[in-house]
Amino acid sequence: MTAKTAVITGITGQDGAYLAAFLLKKGYRVVGIVRRSSHFGVATHRLDWLGITRQVELIDGDLLDLGGLCRTLREVKPDEIYNLAAQSFVKTSWQQPTLTGQVTGLGAVNILEATRLEVPDAHFYQASSSEMYGLIREPVQSETTPFYPRSPYAAAKLFAHWMTVNYRESYGMFACSGILFNHESPLRGLEFVTRKVTDAVAQIALGRADELRMGNMEAQRDWGHARDYVEAMWLMLQHGEADYYVVATGRTNSVRYMIDTAFAHAGLDPDKYIRVDPALLRPAEVDILLGNPEKARKTLGWQATTSLEDMIREMVDADLARYRALPR
Ligand code: GDP
Repeated sequence: MTAKTAVITGITGQDGAYLAAFLLKKGYRVVGIVRRSSHFGVATHRLDWLGITRQVELIDGDLLDLGGLCRTLREVKPDEIYNLAAQSFVKTSWQQPTLTGQVTGLGAVNILEATRLEVPDAHFYQASSSEMYGLIREPVQSETTPFYPRSPYAAAKLFAHWMTVNYRESYGMFACSGILFNHESPLRGLEFVTRKVTDAVAQIALGRADELRMGNMEAQRDWGHARDYVEAMWLMLQHGEADYYVVATGRTNSVRYMIDTAFAHAGLDPDKYIRVDPALLRPAEVDILLGNPEKARKTLGWQATTSLEDMIREMVDADLARYRALPR
């Protein structure tokens, strides 16, 4: 059997990098569509960190450019397409609601449409999000829980989610969507709360910082490890039937608990360093998310394997190593 080819949008992000590493290990040819910026070129630091930058092929492209997406898919002829690109930070989505709608919402339609036109038999994965549950309608969220998005980001993701379902039902495409609950790692962006905390803990431990400004610490999230979650994406595309799945740990914890875990690992007392900053509160908050991963477990045989505690410790250690390697 010849090796499969996968196209990943958002390959320079956390999930894209872990997914690329996972697929390379399975013998795939991995092609990433990347947005080039004249100032920074292509940001490959996550691929560099995983040591796979030279093993992936990067092609310039943008989710907003349907023509370019069509051309790329026509040339590459992928067996699998993973749409992970998005404006993915919830807080920014209030500052840039239109852009978020264009990239995160309409961008998904562009890649679906390019797939339909150029490689209709390819298996397609859409990165949906637990943020779509927003103001939760059920205490534990599953595939049948009604959605109630609470941010421009979540509304755009919900549109993309339903468009994926529509392309499947209308055109018979193998289009899946994974409703991934929060998933983190040492490659998480610094704008997200886990990495912001582990980075600050490392800086404080090394005498490079002396405070950590936080928003709402009562919020609760079902946090898993991105490395585990990219496997669920792949499993969805190998299954006999296209469908959508919740990907979660089934455990929820507060931001405060996550902070305590990170500080404890460095032997520090969080109360000495934390300042609450009202500027970090959001116009609308998602108070609690807790996913039910039963369907993914039963149908795909997938299960989260990394605990929040182990993940946070891994992240603190990675941030400590990063700062130790820097000149002072
Ligand atoms: P989200 O669930 O996609 O919004 O992921 P985030 O990691 O950005 O935020 C998770 C939760 O942490 C949200 O409820 C935030 O309001 C809360 N939070 C509290 N303080 C902060 C902070 O300083 N930065 C971020 N990003 N989130 C914070």
